[in-house]
Amino acid sequence: MFFRAVIFLILIFLLYKVLKSFQENRLVKDKDGKSASPRIAGEDLVEDPVCHRHIPVSQAFKKDIAGKAHYFCGKDCLEKYISANQR
Ligand SMILES: [Zn+2]
Repeated sequence: MFFRAVIFLILIFLLYKVLKSFQENRLVKDKDGKSASPRIAGEDLVEDPVCHRHIPVSQAFKKDIAGKAHYFCGKDCLEKYISANQR
């Protein structure tokens, strides 16, 4: 009877260890998942060449200048950029 109790305790201990390692693995995965997606809903950020702010593409002012797409945080920066390039 004593022998069976010892085996039972060892099995419980092993089960506990396995469950604990599963939990730890899951915590690590959760942390990785969060750090891998710091962006807002997977959206790309673009840099404003005038004020150097980073804006999500959907909120940025897009303007093609000399065949290249430029993104601005607002009309003010767009106008500043155009007048600066004209000089
Ligand atoms: Zn700007």
